[in-house]
Amino acid sequence: MAQGPRDARWGRVVLGGLAAALALAPALFTPGSASAQSLIRDTEIEEILREDIDPILKAAGLEPKDVKVHIVGDKELQAFVTGGQQMFLHTGLILETESPNQLLGVVAHETGHMAGGHLARQGEMMRAGLKPMLLTMGLGLLSVLAGEPTGGAALIASSGQFGMIDVLKHSRGNEGSADQAAVGYLQRSGHSGKGLVEFFDNFRYQQVFSEARRYKYFQSHPLSADRIAALRAPVERQSNYGKVDSEEDLREHAIMKAKLDAFLNPPAQTYIKYKEKDPSFPARYARAIAYYKGSEPDHALRAIDALIREQPNNPYLHELKGQVLFENGRVRESEAPHRRSVELKPDAPLLRVNLGRTLVALDDPKRTEEAIGELNRVVAADPDMYEAWRLLAQAYDRKGDPGRARLASAEAHFSVKDLTAAKVFAMRAREKLRADTPQWRRATDIVLASDPDDRDLRDLARGG
Ligand SMILES: [Zn+2]
Repeated sequence: MAQGPRDARWGRVVLGGLAAALALAPALFTPGSASAQSLIRDTEIEEILREDIDPILKAAGLEPKDVKVHIVGDKELQAFVTGGQQMFLHTGLILETESPNQLLGVVAHETGHMAGGHLARQGEMMRAGLKPMLLTMGLGLLSVLAGEPTGGAALIASSGQFGMIDVLKHSRGNEGSADQAAVGYLQRSGHSGKGLVEFFDNFRYQQVFSEARRYKYFQSHPLSADRIAALRAPVERQSNYGKVDSEEDLREHAIMKAKLDAFLNPPAQTYIKYKEKDPSFPARYARAIAYYKGSEPDHALRAIDALIREQPNNPYLHELKGQVLFENGRVRESEAPHRRSVELKPDAPLLRVNLGRTLVALDDPKRTEEAIGELNRVVAADPDMYEAWRLLAQAYDRKGDPGRARLASAEAHFSVKDLTAAKVFAMRAREKLRADTPQWRRATDIVLASDPDDRDLRDLARGG
């Protein structure tokens, strides 16, 4: 069997479907809304985060590649860890941090919970309704896409689990030990704990003086003057206490925040925060994204081209350019920038999915064949990539291969644990595929792993 059911893993899907994106957007970005959240995928931001986080994980004795870091698109200031070494950082937290060192401090604290085993037990999370399935979408795909809205829409309806995250409330003892562990990790990875103290101080102050602003994070990780004092003492004794963020770290933190701000907020808000007269790279990047979001594609493209002239080898600028073109119906023109981004960063599956989407949309036999190759590379590396499977299904249909098309649809649904639909498509795939091929066996495996009932099993037996 190539793959078993992935019950222990978090389903992932890159959102497809314009209707789904529109349905999601208002709920997702209403402040304080806990009803619809999603996991955000963005290669550039993921890279920046991992570069910072991995040394902390190592200092905690964890294996970075075993720890999944998820970005939750939600304004609430929140971070938490769950079983299976999963760390969740809300965009609200990232945007509230004033420096890379502050963000790193919170990450080190959460790593302290992870390494200390202060995790909600799986059973508790299930009782609280936190099902192991979340909606994942590309940051760049928010206002996209053509095609099948059903997969995404169905998931949005069931993706309001984070409201229940209060179950993760930590005890005072766990908080203290996670704080102390954090100082050790920060010291060993060459950082000061000053940012963590600052961050807590800021919110302690706000909690005391403004009853109106209560942050979920600090409800589940209670702050007290004693706790901050107990953290401050070892931090001030650190030999790295006076260490400050490098220029590079500051730059990347600013880019990450600019990108999140611009993608997640209305353009008008971005123009206020990133003013026309601010010539910095992050400000111009944010404005370019805001023009695109504000349906001014030509303005956006001029802004992006100016950035590309300065940084011709920045894959994410080419990615953004391809996206603006694609989403404004200029599919043929989007091919070159998407190719360029993959060329510059061949190991990034999300960039390859963008190229695959364009190639499928161009709808000629040579490009369809190329898309199949690109997308198969993606799912070989990450079988949970819903959007890649969805596009593969389209590509196989174009090619006139209905068996593989149904199988790819089955995989798409299976990857987000929509087992009912996965089973239906896998059954159809079996009818179209030649018996005993690897594809046919895979379709059979999916049926078996998708809670088959007696009738399904009888059908399987009849089909051999
Ligand atoms: Zn905590």
